[in-house]
Amino acid sequence: MMRVLLSILLLCSSAAAFTAAQTSKPVTIRAGKLIDGRGGVQGNVVVRVDGGKVTSVGKTSGPVTYDLSKYTLLPGFIDTHVHILWHFGPDGRYAAGREEPEVRLKAGAENARVTVEHGFTTVQSVGEAADLDLRKKLEAENLPGPRILTSVRQLNERTGTARGGGNALATPDQLRQAVREAKAAGADVIKIFASASIRDGGKQTMSDEQLQATCGEAKAAGLRTLVHAHSPESIKASVLAGCTQIEHGNFATEESLKLMADRGVYFDPNVGLVLQNYIENKAKFLGIGNYTEEGFAAMEKAVPVVIEMFKKALKTPNLKIVYGTDAVAGAHGRNIEEAVVRVKDGGQKPMDAIVSLTSRSAESLRMQDTIGAIATGLQADLVAVQGDPLADITALRKVVFVMKGGTPLRQDQR
Ligand SMILES: [Zn+2]
Repeated sequence: MMRVLLSILLLCSSAAAFTAAQTSKPVTIRAGKLIDGRGGVQGNVVVRVDGGKVTSVGKTSGPVTYDLSKYTLLPGFIDTHVHILWHFGPDGRYAAGREEPEVRLKAGAENARVTVEHGFTTVQSVGEAADLDLRKKLEAENLPGPRILTSVRQLNERTGTARGGGNALATPDQLRQAVREAKAAGADVIKIFASASIRDGGKQTMSDEQLQATCGEAKAAGLRTLVHAHSPESIKASVLAGCTQIEHGNFATEESLKLMADRGVYFDPNVGLVLQNYIENKAKFLGIGNYTEEGFAAMEKAVPVVIEMFKKALKTPNLKIVYGTDAVAGAHGRNIEEAVVRVKDGGQKPMDAIVSLTSRSAESLRMQDTIGAIATGLQADLVAVQGDPLADITALRKVVFVMKGGTPLRQDQR
């Protein structure tokens, strides 16, 4: 009886929390330590939130709405590369889009919940049309989840060719058309495959001309372009075509890293979660598509390779490294592991990892005036963790409080 009563009380209090944001009474949060996402640190400060936004950050005394003086407060984390709908089915295997749309959306909502509860208040899903349905579902049903940006679809060397066209390659016009269609469908970004998967060797698959057409059209339409590219040739071709962000870059050389830096192209190396997650969950993927024994052997071989590549990336002056995990089935809610590996195995400074995770990623999304820092005028996306992530990056795993746009979504009693 007591337990039933308690759960009813808990349900009521979380429903109240959701409606509180709409009525938007000002709230105050005291942080023991505040890391602002832009490289700044302050001790014992109060953040004031009104109308979903931060209205001041300063040294005030007196009672507060949320006393987080035992914790470190950071801006909401950002993951620029996830696949929010990917999940394992009831048989424990990767579902690969074989199930009913409602089942898939329900799994996506669960992924969204664990993602935001672990501090990620914004994600970019790259992506499929159902991302839009998931975003609608979360809003309509008032479910907890991060802000979701989506590519709606993915473009490759055959996009737009007639179905059953065999090995026909897309013409530049077909790719331009596909970009316009993605924009019309509501894409926030264009996702492009310039190289094969790491399981298939990672060689360049789109021609220079195809990349120029795709990234050129996206630029004209005011859209960013995220390019899956492993080989140095595919990176070079994408950068020279004017694409705006490179994903993975497993075989990036010093020359290709420097080219990205020189052209101001964002780089999203995924070194700490995607490969490791595939290997941990091998039995759940094996035998589906290119998840073969050879594919897994290629991924195992890549784990140390990407760490060495990441170390080179860190040494490349002015290279804009953003945060992305390529979170697939099994990885949602564990997005922070990428930061832990970047710092512990890659040697990145904890503050640099945090800036990448917050303001640098916000900038890559062209949302630096909205999210990515704790500053007056920005959305009140706030995460509190136990411990000091500047001393021990694994503190970022210990999330005790999450607020998105002024709405509290997690409050642990510790
Ligand atoms: Zn991906």
